[in-house]
Amino acid sequence: MKNFEYYAPTKVIFGKDAQMQTGSLIQALNCKKVLVHFGGGSAKKSGLLDNVFASLTAAGIDYVTLGGVVPNPRLSKVYEGIELCKKEKVDFILAVGGGSVIDSAKAIGYGITNDCDVWDLYDGKAQATGCLPIGVILTISAAGSEMSNSSVITKEEGGLKRGCNTDYARCKFAIMNPELTYTLPQYQTESGCTDILMHTMERYFTMERSMEVTDSISEGLMRTVIRNAKILMKEPQNYDARAEIMWAGSLSHNGLTGCGSVGDWACHQLEHELGGMFDVAHGAGLSAVWGSWARYVYKTNAMRFAQFAVNVLGMLNDFSNPEKTALEGINAMEDFYRFIGMPTSIREMGVELTDEQIHELAYKCSFKNTRTIGNFQILNMEDIGKIYSMAR
Ligand code: NAP
Ligand code: FE
Repeated sequence: MKNFEYYAPTKVIFGKDAQMQTGSLIQALNCKKVLVHFGGGSAKKSGLLDNVFASLTAAGIDYVTLGGVVPNPRLSKVYEGIELCKKEKVDFILAVGGGSVIDSAKAIGYGITNDCDVWDLYDGKAQATGCLPIGVILTISAAGSEMSNSSVITKEEGGLKRGCNTDYARCKFAIMNPELTYTLPQYQTESGCTDILMHTMERYFTMERSMEVTDSISEGLMRTVIRNAKILMKEPQNYDARAEIMWAGSLSHNGLTGCGSVGDWACHQLEHELGGMFDVAHGAGLSAVWGSWARYVYKTNAMRFAQFAVNVLGMLNDFSNPEKTALEGINAMEDFYRFIGMPTSIREMGVELTDEQIHELAYKCSFKNTRTIGNFQILNMEDIGKIYSMAR
């Protein structure tokens, strides 16, 4: 097993009415002027934003607002936020929304505290040295950005989706009220469940000898998400199921399920190019490529896939023939994705890839043929192109 550091400094306020504590939480951090950052309208429509404004006012905290963050959050909105925050002397950013709003908030926070063009931090040209403090009121369980060190932004020019990971951007607090996710369309709920699963699967499929305790936590988390994702197909207002998924979302991406191992992350890299070029929902993009990735790589360590099949998906324990069990598990996972309405091919997302587009995706994903992706099996540009072809 690998040496590791585990750092999860975000204060979690979980449960009904948690959002009422917003003002006092920011007050306790001694911040005076807040940017309330939000998306396309769901938080306004549900009345959540009005609750937040009331809580800030009651705590004597001044604020400005910036909405309009879209899924696969755009760099242009980040620049707008940076300018506004500088003009208004904002010292705290409150993200009200999901991964897209949180990631946009983190990018704005970077933009204010670092002298470079903020995109340089995402493009690998510069290193961040700080970030404005961020807090979150979570409205969709999915990305896990509320406890992760990561932010993913899309630059419109060239359709480039790139991440920046540092501990500076870890949220000071995350307010998580499962009831706030009741209004989600089913597709977003299930796309979120897929992303949560994938955050643990990316860490689980490793060539490193993993820790038993990390495997147990991961397998339990994945079983829980699968069970509750199915419940939410029928009962979107089931509080307990919403709560299980919400907490799993944070634990899946705060580092816990990766302790002692090295993550793979190939599926996330494959999805980022699809998200950048075709603006697909992140979770859906992941399920669309996962089965193809899995079939391409499973022989590298069929026993690991067999363990996943047995311990997570309940396949019969036939470790004497791990390749057979592995394939049964891959099929069962894809059946699950279909059950929750998620695609298992790129075509199902309304994208008919041409050969030229596959080449372009592979070229971009391999950073113009200068890097490999994945750890379970290291994949070069040719491998990447083959996986996109299998998944199309
Ligand atoms: P999202 O893009 O933040 O939101 C998806 C959609 O759900 C939006 O249209 C949003 O509409 C809607 N929505 C959110 N809450 C709602 C509610 N309570 N009721 C009704 N509609 C609601 O979703 P996400 O999956 O959390 O974030 C995806 C982004 O995060 C992607 O860019 C992905 O690459 C990134 N990501 C980041 C990390 C990380 O650690 N930083 C990890 C994985 C993925 P409104 O705009 O109207 O609110
Ligand atoms: Fe993700």
